[in-house]
Amino acid sequence: MATTKANLTQFEQELVDKAVGAMEKAYCKYSGFKVGAALVCEDGEIIIGANHENASYGATICAERSAMVTALTKGHRKFKLLAVATELEAPCSPCGICRQYLIEFGDYKVILGSSTSDQIIETTTYGLLPYAFTPKSLDDHEKEAEERNHQEGEKKH
Ligand SMILES: [Zn+2]
Repeated sequence: MATTKANLTQFEQELVDKAVGAMEKAYCKYSGFKVGAALVCEDGEIIIGANHENASYGATICAERSAMVTALTKGHRKFKLLAVATELEAPCSPCGICRQYLIEFGDYKVILGSSTSDQIIETTTYGLLPYAFTPKSLDDHEKEAEERNHQEGEKKH
């Protein structure tokens, strides 16, 4: 949903500010495209991330995954909210790899903001990646395979 920063809670506004602040940590000498992220963990800890590019372009890591890997390394596994910011006036959406990476840890709110405007998009990890392949997909596969094996076993007896 498109909105403006004034419609966010005070906490959410401050989180967008943290994402904007994290943009200054970007290592983006090739594109000049700074991205910042601020991730709220289940216990309330806030972890920031920025994009870090590489001369081997494919080795680049986005701000969203940068925040997430820091959080995971600190032991966090559940998340409440992620804010992402760029210099684009219209909020910029996470790339496909990040959408997949973020949804691994469930459905939580995502706020997309800007360092140059008050425009905001409010969404969720599922909103960003409908019909996602998730850990549940693998669990369902295992369960269904077990059921099929069980049914085949019953036919033989
Ligand atoms: Zn990305």
